[in-house]
Amino acid sequence: MPAELLDGKRIAQEIRGEVAERVKKLVARGVTPGLSVILVGDDAASAVYVAAKGKASEEVGIKSEKVRLPADTTQEDLLARIVALNADESVHGILVQFPLPKHIDAEQVILAIDPKKDVDCFHPVNVGKMLIGDRDGFLPCTPAGVQEMLKRAGVKTSGKHCVIVGRSNIVGKPMAALMMQPGENANCTVTVCHSGTKDLGAETRRADILIAATGKAGLITREMVKAGAVVVDVGMNRIPDASSKNGKRLVGDVDFDDVREIASLITPVPGGVGPMTIAMLLANTVRSAENSLR
Ligand code: NDP
Repeated sequence: MPAELLDGKRIAQEIRGEVAERVKKLVARGVTPGLSVILVGDDAASAVYVAAKGKASEEVGIKSEKVRLPADTTQEDLLARIVALNADESVHGILVQFPLPKHIDAEQVILAIDPKKDVDCFHPVNVGKMLIGDRDGFLPCTPAGVQEMLKRAGVKTSGKHCVIVGRSNIVGKPMAALMMQPGENANCTVTVCHSGTKDLGAETRRADILIAATGKAGLITREMVKAGAVVVDVGMNRIPDASSKNGKRLVGDVDFDDVREIASLITPVPGGVGPMTIAMLLANTVRSAENSLR
């Protein structure tokens, strides 16, 4: 029997509804949550992501401000903009869209953001808090979205073997950190795979929960998946497709049609992890606004 769909779009909608309720309560107390998204340069994909975040924010009542800066913006100017946003009480979340132009030191940019407004969880203070299991900081949107999706779909994680393919700072590493924590919706035995892994299939076949985040279309095939596994596909890859209007199609890292035949639960692409990432960004922004009232 083909796997059931782990419907990120539906779960994200549920979270957005909850966020909208929290926004209403904040507004009643005189605080409108504010999210500032900084975009440097004209990267087309980044512009699409920023627009999607702005639209989603407005829909739940978060005031969204897009700060568009030219590609030749100096590091000094960008840091000055961040310092100003840190000081602005109407701004509760600051997000800098990556990638940045090559002449800008991304690490310095991340360090400049006030950890209390770092709703993307890129700042080392928030990353460190996540690693030690201190829930006082923010959690990174994509891995937290995956964890929340598993929770809301009723997937039992404790004692399960979770295999993560990918070790980036924004997905693979924090995903591993979240799933290995003691406590609810985690407590997994975690294996992290990467391009240095000798026999990827041997590792992934041991997964009760398999999370793919590589950016390699179709990397995870049916032979690499244990029967009954829960499969989460973080990948977003645009592949050529003559039948589509723009000649491209969005696919994940998992060979969806084949793997669906063997998995018990699987996320689609699109409509899986992507919407969850945005929903968690909104939730982090509202949480920051709530924190400002404490
Ligand atoms: P990175 O390119 O930063 O990292 C990819 C990781 O995959 C690396 O650790 C790399 O290993 C590993 N990898 C690549 N090829 C292989 C292979 N053949 N075998 C084993 N491991 C491999 O990507 P990100 O983590 O930023 O993103 C991953 C994917 O997730 C992308 O498609 C991205 O678009 C998508 N994404 C989706 C989001 C969403 O909201 N749905 C949010 C963020 C990302 P090594 O370290 O050795 O190079």
